[in-house]
Amino acid sequence: LLILVKDSLTLAALMGYLLYLNWKLTLIVFAIFPAVVVVMKVLSKRLYRITKASQNATDELAYVVEENVLAYRAVRLHHAQTSQTQRFDTLNQQLRRLAMKATIANSAMTPITQMLAAMALSAVICVALWQSSASGITVGGFVAFTTAMLMLIAPIKHLSEVAGPVTRGLAALERGLDLTDSTPRETSGSYAPQAQTKPGSLVLENVSVRYTNSERDALQNMSLRIQPGETVALVGSSGSGKTTLVNLLPRFVDMTAGKLMLNGVDIREWDLDALRQQFSFVSQDVVMLNDSVAVNVALGQMPDTKRVHAALKAANLNEHIDSLPQGIHSIVGHNANQLSGGQRQRLAIARAVYKNAPILILDEATSALDTESEQAVKSALQRLMQDRTTLIIAHRLSTIEHADRIVVMGNGQIVETGSHTELLSLKGAYARLYRLGNTTGLIDDALFG
Ligand code: ADP
Ligand code: MG
Repeated sequence: LLILVKDSLTLAALMGYLLYLNWKLTLIVFAIFPAVVVVMKVLSKRLYRITKASQNATDELAYVVEENVLAYRAVRLHHAQTSQTQRFDTLNQQLRRLAMKATIANSAMTPITQMLAAMALSAVICVALWQSSASGITVGGFVAFTTAMLMLIAPIKHLSEVAGPVTRGLAALERGLDLTDSTPRETSGSYAPQAQTKPGSLVLENVSVRYTNSERDALQNMSLRIQPGETVALVGSSGSGKTTLVNLLPRFVDMTAGKLMLNGVDIREWDLDALRQQFSFVSQDVVMLNDSVAVNVALGQMPDTKRVHAALKAANLNEHIDSLPQGIHSIVGHNANQLSGGQRQRLAIARAVYKNAPILILDEATSALDTESEQAVKSALQRLMQDRTTLIIAHRLSTIEHADRIVVMGNGQIVETGSHTELLSLKGAYARLYRLGNTTGLIDDALFG
């Protein structure tokens, strides 16, 4: 901005002075401007294109790096280093070529404009010499004119150098704006009840969900009524829409049709923060922060030591954490990889206990647990489920047998519903699963006939 203002003013002042000294000669100087504008336009356009391309290439490169960092074990185990290195190399070369092109386009601007200025200068000198013999320009007049003209070069150079960064900045800005435009804002209603501690009721009416780019409904015309305090288990083969259903509730996924009410209020009318405060979520893909145990348990709040301890105890993780030298202030590592799978899952349960929300959602929350730690966690979960509305998705029948109601899902629809004994006497899908001893037995069915 400084350069733009200062040098534009200098340029204008010098031009005025030149016009005042000798307007005919100044016209020659003016002639270079259209040429400069054309050069700048062509080069800026090129620079803009290259900048966009290299931003994309940087994206892809970062993506490859991220993937490989995450999958470093799998890459080594499958001996994929060569192919991954090649992938990285190709993108790197591409980025290097683009960077070279950008540098060329950027640095060509200044010499070309200077060349044009030099040409104008030569023309002026020729004409001035010729004019002086015809109309007698004074030596002083000529020196003043030439000096003023030479002084023009510096501001022109500076102004031409501004174009590069501005062009790059504009390209980046446009990408940013594109991103914000193409990502719709989460819409939020205004219903925000005072501190909600009572368990909630949930009503689904003909809810359908179809993911973008999908040809099939993940949930199809589903209706379900869950009373306050009820424990409902969802079972069904993988891909039957169980996770989709529970993701609907905190609006991580939006439905395509139908109506979903929490405590009698359409969830689209709920204030988003208030709505999300209603749920504790222990999902199949827990993510932990590389921070202390306390921060992970109290995620989003200032950790209260007493409550953290209580939550860890409820999740049966207190013994392990207390044995660590720094207790609840121990750092857990990248995605808690300093804990075992079962400990990690219990940490997630402790997080849910700490949040103390009226509705509890367990999406394969015990899948990473061995039988022994499952026993340890089961009592914790049972305590947690008391006085709460609970939706539980689990592989193991032992976990869901005691649910008030079991909903068997298949292809995004409800196949059967009832209590454990009712479903068994139906001798339908659930009974078949039960015989296999595993609610995901349907996969085995599909695989092994
Ligand atoms: P479940 O939890 O019962 O195993 P999901 O609810 O995860 O099943 O998936 C239901 C269906 O929706 C599957 O067919 C799956 O391929 C599809 N699906 C899930 N998540 C997405 C997504 N983000 N985009 C597109 N399709 C999805
Ligand atoms: Mg799932």
